[in-house]
Amino acid sequence: MDTISALATALVESGIGIIRLSGEEALSIAEKILRTKSGKPLDIRESHRICYGFVYDKEEAVDEVLVSTFLAPKSYTGEDVVEINCHGGVLLMQKIFTLTLKNGARAAEPGEFTKRAFLNGRIDLSQAEAVADLIASKTEAGIQSSLALVQGALGEKIKECRSLILEDTAFIEAALDDPEHISLDGFSEKCAQHTEYILQEIEKLLRFREEGRMLTEGIHTAIVGKPNAGKSSLLNALVGAEKAIVTDIPGTTRDTVEENIRLDGLSLHLMDTAGIRNTQDIVEGIGVEKAKKSIEHADLLLFVVDALKEFEKEDEEILSLVQGKKTIVLLNKTDQETVLTKKELEEKTGLPVIAISAKEWTGIKELGEKIRELFFSGSLSFSSEIFIHSERQRVDLEEAKRALLEVRNGLRLSLSEDFLSIDLMGAYSALGRILGEEVSEDLVNEIFAKFCMGK
Ligand code: GDP
Repeated sequence: MDTISALATALVESGIGIIRLSGEEALSIAEKILRTKSGKPLDIRESHRICYGFVYDKEEAVDEVLVSTFLAPKSYTGEDVVEINCHGGVLLMQKIFTLTLKNGARAAEPGEFTKRAFLNGRIDLSQAEAVADLIASKTEAGIQSSLALVQGALGEKIKECRSLILEDTAFIEAALDDPEHISLDGFSEKCAQHTEYILQEIEKLLRFREEGRMLTEGIHTAIVGKPNAGKSSLLNALVGAEKAIVTDIPGTTRDTVEENIRLDGLSLHLMDTAGIRNTQDIVEGIGVEKAKKSIEHADLLLFVVDALKEFEKEDEEILSLVQGKKTIVLLNKTDQETVLTKKELEEKTGLPVIAISAKEWTGIKELGEKIRELFFSGSLSFSSEIFIHSERQRVDLEEAKRALLEVRNGLRLSLSEDFLSIDLMGAYSALGRILGEEVSEDLVNEIFAKFCMGK
């Protein structure tokens, strides 16, 4: 494969910048532009070592640098890799990057380093995808769970399941080939045991898919409540003063439909925020209509109730809509003398209630704690659980599950082993796709195109 080069750090003025080369010519290209302080050739041939030197453009010194070498196969990509750490000036980084191109490297595409790591068998596809997630993680928990995947936790689990399937299919094949010497007695018990175990593991991964999604995308949250309860004030409090939009002029800044905010290590994906900001000119009654619409796709509902009023008919109506959804009731405007108490509201709704003031920003921390409790049993330490992060992985898991349910069925009906073998192989392939086996080139390209440059 040709040698690729990219700026691995952002093109902004910073302490250092890194230009990364990977491929057969990585060392020779780097050597063409590197010298020692006294202008002699710089020896960078030893792996896993950092050398001090200078980048030269022909006879002119460009920058003072540190160069790390990772020889194949012990590098990120599995190829020879050279990383030039230069000073982080924008022009400087560009100049050195251009020098690598002039000397024979090709500019890398987004994700191409990781793609090579995958193609060279350094990592499986689940790890590669997790690298992109790790970089994009917006929460502590997202980082933790992506890192576990980068280290291959999902791959390990999948490989374990696949080896059990392979054992069973190999046994069937062998027994069918040589029925005189290999007996299938007792096979169905063992196969059933394996199948149940794998189904259990798949179920677990699928169950945690939702948690995984909420970690990386944020918890889809809708704010509901009757007009004037304080929804838009709450939104502004959550988003923070610096981002609050003043909606004095009707029709302005209505394009922010969704917003991500961080709350106590969690990420909330606030839905239909334009609608909330737009309530000023909306007639009474539409609060319920709005609530209906937002509730459907939400993981979490924040039901804002005005503490300066009784629990009114419209509140009752919204309460009937939130049934079955994870809901936290927020008794708002508690900075004032209230009409409605927390206790009364708890009794009326049967839901957790937090007294807040959207105006004074009180109660927001308790809200974070409550959400954590509702979604992650209070703790955000997932080190023992593996989360799948992508829809692609979910689809493949579902397919493996379907095939294994067929196997279970077949075993119960005492179907012949070659039938079982077909479904076992179906499950085997579906699980293999999670690791990146037999996936099409288009899919591989699509996955890596989502990466940032230089990774
Ligand atoms: P929405 O219609 O539900 O979006 O309600 P708004 O956020 O527009 O608030 C309606 C009115 O209640 C505004 O005049 C706010 O200033 C006021 N308000 C909102 N939250 C509080 C609060 O925590 N305390 C007090 N005292 N007033 C609030």
